[in-house]
Amino acid sequence: MATAKKSGARARLRKYFLANVGRMLSSDELRKASGNISEWARRVRELRTEEGFQILTNNDRADLKPGEYLLLDPKPIPAFTRDISKEVRAFVLDRNGFTCLMCGAVAGEPHPADPSRKTRLHIGHIVDKSMGGTDDVSNLRAVCSICNEGARNLTLDRPSLLKLLIQVRRATGADQIGVLRWLLLKFPQQSAELLGLK
Ligand SMILES: [Zn+2]
Repeated sequence: MATAKKSGARARLRKYFLANVGRMLSSDELRKASGNISEWARRVRELRTEEGFQILTNNDRADLKPGEYLLLDPKPIPAFTRDISKEVRAFVLDRNGFTCLMCGAVAGEPHPADPSRKTRLHIGHIVDKSMGGTDDVSNLRAVCSICNEGARNLTLDRPSLLKLLIQVRRATGADQIGVLRWLLLKFPQQSAELLGLK
């Protein structure tokens, strides 16, 4: 009974966050969304730690106040990168010479496919878990974020401002508002300055 109640509250919070991606949510709002349970904050933490949702707090971003939460992306971080211990992670990175085994990019250096990005390494499975691969170190390797995202084959050239603006101008009003909201949240200070509020 208690478990059913617990997962129910978490599911309600998950749904609420997913309906409000990129919007700052207050404690009051989240408590209500959870069905007014006292342990709503713990359920939010579980969405972060157990399900991998990137829910930010004031610990993650300076423009959030204590008690404010924001879901950055509807897509949770894949479970495999969360299950592996710090020790195993460090061991694999060291064994692989802090180099991405798929493209050869070196941790901390500009990425060869996109020099504007510093190479960040993750731990990936050689044989995917869905194909029966295990978390054993023999099945793990260092993979950079670009290879990890599978984005290496997509175009990595950043679009020019002109191309971006053409895309935005062609978008629907609702999507343009979505872009506006995303930018306002990403650049709160600059937004206030441009609007003459500061
Ligand atoms: Zn790579």
